[in-house]
Amino acid sequence: MSLEGEYDDQNIFAKILRREASAIIVHEDDDTMTFMDVFPQSRGHVLIVPKSPARNILEIEDAPLQALIVQVKRVAKAVEKALNPDGVFVGQFNGAEAGQTVHHIHFHVIPRYKGRDMGRHGEDRADDEALKKLADDIGIALSELD
Ligand code: 5GP
Repeated sequence: MSLEGEYDDQNIFAKILRREASAIIVHEDDDTMTFMDVFPQSRGHVLIVPKSPARNILEIEDAPLQALIVQVKRVAKAVEKALNPDGVFVGQFNGAEAGQTVHHIHFHVIPRYKGRDMGRHGEDRADDEALKKLADDIGIALSELD
């Protein structure tokens, strides 16, 4: 999909938001949902999506983007608190040519650990039980933030 075109409400994140597809949810509020990436590039890879439909950062309205980026910051802090990584990657892709595979805007929060390379993008499926434990730990850390 190029940057031209329109939002397709059959994308997997839209289905997760409508509860038509399952996800291991870390947190939800009026504007955003945070859930575990099922093909994590490192232990604790989290995705944050806005509830309003937009394909990418070029399209999203300012108000939902503001809510989204504030939640991204909170999740990064919670990941740091829960998992004690050596660094935290925060990123997002716009358009297939840039590496975007799901065309509902989302931010990746990927903890990085010294000496461990980041896994390949969207390739190795994680064990659900391990993801649930990580989601619980990150969710608790989120609830304990100021
Ligand atoms: P993008 O390349 O669009 O930035 O990344 C999409 C991300 O969604 C990838 O990291 C991929 O692992 C993740 N992903 C793809 N399908 C699913 C799914 O069904 N559930 C969850 N939780 N993550 C998914």
